This record gives sequence, structure tokens and C-alpha cells, in this order.
Amino acid sequence: MITIIGAGAAGNYAAYLLAEKGFEVQVFEANSTIGTPIACTGILTSYFDTLVEPKKEFIANEISSSRIYSPNGEFAQINFRHPNRILHRNLLDQHVAKMAANEGAEYHLEQKS
Ligand SMILES: Cc1cc2nc3c(=O)[nH]c(=O)nc-3n(C[C@H](O)[C@H](O)[C@H](O)COP(=O)(O)OP(=O)(O)OC[C@H]3O[C@@H](n4cnc5c(N)ncnc54)[C@H](O)[C@@H]3O)c2cc1C
Repeated sequence: MITIIGAGAAGNYAAYLLAEKGFEVQVFEANSTIGTPIACTGILTSYFDTLVEPKKEFIANEISSSRIYSPNGEFAQINFRHPNRILHRNLLDQHVAKMAANEGAEYHLEQKS
């Protein structure tokens, strides 16, 4: 059996990969709801798409460039080759946890190790 502490991005995705390979996985999460409280802006590069199939349910927006401002108002603009995604981080965490649970991972909420 494999025990994972924390149902965040890392814990949920590890749980998914391990459960998919047939391991018995138990995930312990201190909070009562996966993904909350949110502590992430939710900006991810397009590499994300190679890990988790993008779903409308957790995608808030897409951006194709960003600007970094200095205090005097000047800025440098970075144009991305592929759009970055802005995600509802709490919904993404819940989605990946569901992927893991569908592969057989068991979740235990409000359990602080
Ligand atoms: C303000 C802010 C903005 C950010 N914005 C971005 C962004 O735009 N893009 C980006 O890519 N990254 C961003 N990050 C970074 C990103 O949030 C982290 O890299 C990511 O959440 C790390 O994932 P994780 O699974 O390792 O940890 P976490 O997401 O922190 O998950 C850890 C989980 O473990 C649980 N836990 C902890 N200790 C225990 C315990 N003892 N027992 C049980 N459960 C426990 C916690 O409750 C939590 O649910 C941001 C971070 C912050 C703080």
C-alpha cells in the first residue's frame, strides 16, 4: 500500500499515476474539501495539456502574452508560442482527485498526519 499525504496537485496526480498502475493508494488530506482554501493564481503553461486533458469545467481563461511592469510604468512583453491557461485551481485539484479515485485511490479528508 502507498500512503500519500496531501491532496494537492502533486498528491492527486501521483495518486492517479500509481493507482492507474495497480498500486493500492490511500490519500490523506488535512482539509475537509479538496482544493480549498485556494493558494494559487492558476496560471499554467501549455505543457499542462500533456499531463491532464483540459476540460471546460476547470479552465477559466487563456492568455497569449504577459507584461512585466517596472515601477516607472515601462514594461517588457512576453508573447507565448502556445497560450497559457488560467485554471480554477480548486476545480482542477478536484478533477485530478476524481481521476485518481476512478482508478481506485481512496481519499480520507480532514485527516492530518
Ligand atoms: C499565492 C500563490 C500563487 C500561485 N500561483 C501559481 C500559478 O499561477 N501557477 C503555478 O503553476 N503555481 C502557482 N503557485 C504554486 C502552486 O500553488 C504550488 O506549486 C502547488 O500548489 C504545489 O502543489 P503541491 O501538491 O505540492 O502542494 P499544495 O497544493 O500546497 O497541496 C498540499 C496539500 O497537502 C495538504 N497537507 C499538508 N500537510 C498535510 C498533513 N500533514 N496531513 C494531511 N494533509 C496535509 C494541504 O492541505 C494541501 O491540500 C502559487 C502559489 C501561491 C502561494
